[in-house]
Amino acid sequence: MANEREYPRTKEGSKIGKIVVDRDLCITAVSCIAVADAMYQLDNEAKVVVTDANAVDDETLIMSAESCPTKAIHLYDTAGNKIFPK
Ligand code: SF4
Repeated sequence: MANEREYPRTKEGSKIGKIVVDRDLCITAVSCIAVADAMYQLDNEAKVVVTDANAVDDETLIMSAESCPTKAIHLYDTAGNKIFPK
């Protein structure tokens, strides 16, 4: 089973209801942190964790997921459908 961590997002007006980080895919490229440093941190295994799922707007969150070279950040809409990566 994939080593995934789920982070619910409850930001008002956001289309995105959940962020999932696949820890096996995270290679510590930190491009996600460069795009949205208010949201992410590296943990003691040098994998990204979401520290505040509501910290940035949808556009910035999507950009941060798109910036990940291994597509380790997966986004779901509020109905539970995967919206990134397609
Ligand atoms: S950009 Fe992707 S690989 Fe790099 S730290 Fe973020 S989640 Fe991990």
